[in-house]
Amino acid sequence: MQHFPLFLSLRDRRALVVGGGESAARKIELLLQAGAQVALIADTVIGEIAQLIADGRVAWAGHSFDSGDLDGISLVIVATDDGALQARVSHAAQSRCLPVNVVDRPKLSSFIMPAIVDRGPITVAISTGGTAPALARKLRAEIERALPATIGRLARFAEIFRDQVRRTLREPRARRRFWDRVFAGRIGELALAGDEIGARRELIRLLDGARSPAQPQAGIVHLVGAGPGDADLLTLKAHRLLQRADVVVYDRLVSAEVLAMARRDAERIYVGKRRAHHCVPQEEINDRLVALARAGKSVVRLKGGDPFVFGRGGEEVEALVAAGIAVEVVPGITAALGCAAAAGVPLTHRDHAQACVFVTGHLKDGSLDLDWPMLARPRQTVVIYMGAGSLPLIARKLVQHGLPATTPVALIENGTTDRERRVVGTLATIERQAAEADLTGPTLCMVGEVVGIALEKPREFRFESRIGL
Ligand code: SAH
Repeated sequence: MQHFPLFLSLRDRRALVVGGGESAARKIELLLQAGAQVALIADTVIGEIAQLIADGRVAWAGHSFDSGDLDGISLVIVATDDGALQARVSHAAQSRCLPVNVVDRPKLSSFIMPAIVDRGPITVAISTGGTAPALARKLRAEIERALPATIGRLARFAEIFRDQVRRTLREPRARRRFWDRVFAGRIGELALAGDEIGARRELIRLLDGARSPAQPQAGIVHLVGAGPGDADLLTLKAHRLLQRADVVVYDRLVSAEVLAMARRDAERIYVGKRRAHHCVPQEEINDRLVALARAGKSVVRLKGGDPFVFGRGGEEVEALVAAGIAVEVVPGITAALGCAAAAGVPLTHRDHAQACVFVTGHLKDGSLDLDWPMLARPRQTVVIYMGAGSLPLIARKLVQHGLPATTPVALIENGTTDRERRVVGTLATIERQAAEADLTGPTLCMVGEVVGIALEKPREFRFESRIGL
C-alpha cells in the first residue's frame, strides 16, 4: 500500500489553499463541503473564487506565501503552476509535519487526493497510489454506476435503528446477519425508494422475527425490463437488481448478454417458448413467481423491452398482488425506442409525424382486429410489435384505408444487437422484401414518413448508432 487511507475531519479547522485558478476552485469546493475554513493565497483569482471571497466563505490571506501563513493550519493544498512556489510551500509545510498536497506533483505531496464518490454520508475514495489518476476516474465511474444515487438514504435509515438493533441482538454475528438481510432485501429497496415508513415497518418485523426465529420472510418479485438486447441499454436499477437476485426468471426475448449480468450464482429459470413453439402458460409462470417469493427469494422477473409494453406485465402484477407478494416494476427500453435509435428513425418529427402509435400485429384466429382508419391517418408513425406474420395483411389494410403505397416501411430484426438486420421499403414492396430476407428473429415494423428520413441521408453519412466507445 503506497498511502495510508483515512477520512480526516476538517470541520471548523483551517485549510490553506495556494493558487487561484480552476484547479484551486475545485479543491476549495471540496474543503468547504467538508466544513473546513479556507484561507487562500493567490495573486489573481477566477470569478468563482472571487465570489466565494465576496460571500465571506473563503478568506484571502495574501498574494505571496510566507511560512507564517501556516500558523493554525491543519492541511495545505497547493494548486498553482509556479514550480518554485510549489516547492517552497511543500517544504515549509512538511518541516512542520503538516499534511500537504501539491496538485499533480506526488513527490512534493505528503498525501494524495483520491477520486471521490459522494453519496450523502457514504463516501468512497479511490486511489491508484498516484500512478494513474485516469484509471481512478474510470473506477469511480464504475462505482458510481453500481451505487444507487439514493444509497445515502439507506445509510441514514440504518443509523436510526443502529442502537435498537445493538440492544436487541447482542451477538455480533446475529447482528451482521440481520443487517445483511436489511441491505440485500426488500427493506433496503424500500429505503432506497424513499418509502421510509414501509421500510421501518418491515425492519421492525424482521427484528421481531430475528429475536424469535420462526417463519421465513416473504420474498419480493421485481418485474424488470431487460431492454431490446444491447446490455448497455439496461437501467442502472435493473443492473443492480440482477446483481442481487436469488433467482432470475426470463423468457426468449432476453438476450444472453443481459442474462450474463445476473449474479453468477443466481438460479436462472427459462419460461419462454419450449420445443415445438409451445409457450409456458401464463398461469404457470404466475404460480412459479408466487412460489419463489413465498420461499423467501428475491426474484427478478426479466422481460424483453419494457414489462408493460406488450409484455403481459400487468397480468403478472395482478397475480402477485392477489397472492400478497410485494412487487416492484422497473421499466426498460421498449423495442420501438431501441430500434428507432439504432436505425436513426426519429419516431416523431415536427415536419412529418406529430404522433406515434404502438400496436400489436399478433394474429388471433388468423385475423387482426385493429382500428385501421386510425392507423392509416397521415402525419403519424405506426410501430407494429409481433407483426412479422401479419405483415402482408397490415400493408394491404393500411393502403386500403388511405395510406399511399409509397409510404416508407422499415423492418428491424434483433434491433440493437450484433445480429441486427434492417429491411427498408414501402408498403407496396415490403412483403416481397421481407420474404426474401427471411427474418426469423424478433422483428419490429415501423411505418411512416420518418422512416424515409433515415434513408434520405447520403450514404457516407448513414446513421450508425453502434459505434463502439
Ligand atoms: N415488452 C417488449 C415487447 C414484447 S412483444 C418490449 O417492450 O419491447 C415481442 C415483440 O417485440 C417482437 O415480436 C418484436 O416485434 C418486438 N421486439 C422485441 N425485441 C426486439 C428487438 N430487439 N428487435 C426488434 N423487435 C423486437
